[in-house]
Amino acid sequence: MPAPVPAAPRLRAPRLCVAVQGSTPAELFSRAEGALKDARFLEFRLDPLPKPAAALPQLKDFLAHNREIMAIATCRRKENGGHFAGSLTSELDILLHAAEAGCHIVDLEVESAEQTTKPQLARFRAAVRAAGAALLVSFHDFTRTKGLAQAAQRIQAFEPDFVKVVSTARTLADNLAVLRLIEDLSLHSNVIGIAMGEEGIVSRLLGPRAGAAFTFASAGEGVETAPGQTTVRTLVDLYRVEQLDQATRIFGVAGNPIGHSLSPLMHNTAFRRESINAIMLPLKVKSLDDLLTLTRELPLSGVAVTMPLKQDVLPHLANMDPLTSRIGACNTLRVSSDGKIVGFNTDVAGVVRPLERRMRLRGSRILVVGAGGAARAAVFGLVEQGAEVFITNRTHETAVALARKAKAKAVKRDQLVKNRFDAIINTTPCGMTGAIQSLPIAENELNAHVVFDMVYNPLDTALLKLARSRGLTVISGLEMFVQQGARQFEIWTGKPAPEADMLRVVELALRNHQKSDHTVSSSNHKKHP
Ligand code: NAP
Repeated sequence: MPAPVPAAPRLRAPRLCVAVQGSTPAELFSRAEGALKDARFLEFRLDPLPKPAAALPQLKDFLAHNREIMAIATCRRKENGGHFAGSLTSELDILLHAAEAGCHIVDLEVESAEQTTKPQLARFRAAVRAAGAALLVSFHDFTRTKGLAQAAQRIQAFEPDFVKVVSTARTLADNLAVLRLIEDLSLHSNVIGIAMGEEGIVSRLLGPRAGAAFTFASAGEGVETAPGQTTVRTLVDLYRVEQLDQATRIFGVAGNPIGHSLSPLMHNTAFRRESINAIMLPLKVKSLDDLLTLTRELPLSGVAVTMPLKQDVLPHLANMDPLTSRIGACNTLRVSSDGKIVGFNTDVAGVVRPLERRMRLRGSRILVVGAGGAARAAVFGLVEQGAEVFITNRTHETAVALARKAKAKAVKRDQLVKNRFDAIINTTPCGMTGAIQSLPIAENELNAHVVFDMVYNPLDTALLKLARSRGLTVISGLEMFVQQGARQFEIWTGKPAPEADMLRVVELALRNHQKSDHTVSSSNHKKHP
């Protein structure tokens, strides 16, 4: 009679597993050591090592010195998307020894499991369990999200302790497929579901909330073991992944590109500060339909939208305020409990609030430089406040058309020196990091008390420096960014926004970003004198 298979160990895995890998054992274990300050659950990717088996004694030592942590061992073979060039037997051997070294879970690809003979897998499972470890069988699709239920069935045929299904998100809706799979399987299995890639962030963050046993994070930037992996610090501090529950309201900032958006930092800080159970995720949107599907079906409670979605979304709104309709652009969506989407334009508040703190708008003369999307919100918003608004633009006809629609006045550039204004607002990209032109208007055209630059990268633009040197009052694009965000926060939560905290985190992030840009450019100078 065959010996009975030992029972699966009872494991209570933390929600977050940090995946570490290295090209040498020294690199692998130094990264693992570093990850311990943020995590108590590590995945050791052994396959990138030149000789994974040779690292096992060190793995045993590491786990013996860190008894409080949980560990997964993975040694994915090349034909299954990993780096290990060895045979199936070697893979099974390494995983078994990793279990004996103290790993709590071993990850076997479903393709490898399918290549084993029945007795071989039974012996492997029994030995892994005898070592006190659990068997995880994983499926990876590195190109798309399709056939997830079939993939799960392939895995379940081996009756593993953990089912791991990983696909690649090409759309935001692919996250829904992964989350539905988690919801279904988690009723009777320990499941992990993730869609890789930037679009898959929703599944990475919301997987545990949908019932996944855990999700994966990277130890830091640049050491990711899979595309789209987020750092453990970001998942814990910014997205509070360990606290998300069914009551958490989900918001998004949608655009393409979106990876560098400061909106998640600003809004997540505000939600935390005000103890609001909500998070904002960056959503990489390739099509409006895709965003609307996610909005309806996840569902999202609200979305901050960037260009070109600000205009494209208008036909899909159940309602919008009259000013948004006149501007013809909406940057904020609020989804009501019946799924209807209401649109707002908070760029208006971003322009009006900083100005009205410094001057009386009714009857004031304000020059808007530029006539693009950002200018529209400024012009319509200020006209509504009773200001006399002038528009000057590189392409004069565009200024004329906007002025006609908004009851403002178009001014030719050569008329500026002869005019005085109470405030001048730059809405062009001139002065932005990387822009060829640093000043939108010349020094002798700066005839105003207040100068407002919508550009916020760099924080201190050439225009603001010039205005300050002439003793004028200045308003930075950062203040606009925070004020439009504060208004979004109010629309979404019904509470006043913690503006000072929002400003502080965004300013700090921009300063750090500019410092690192500066360091990179000065080290490049050193390399290429
Ligand atoms: P947009 O729709 O492309 O409009 C750009 C405007 O700038 C157009 O009127 C364009 O004139 C003019 N322009 C572009 N390059 C110019 C140059 N070299 N010299 C003179 N005029 C030039 O862009 P947008 O969406 O309005 O954004 C404009 C700026 O505002 C960006 O820098 C953006 O980052 C900033 N912004 C900031 C905030 C914030 O929260 N602080 C919010 C929104 C936007 P033509 O008509 O001749 O092309």
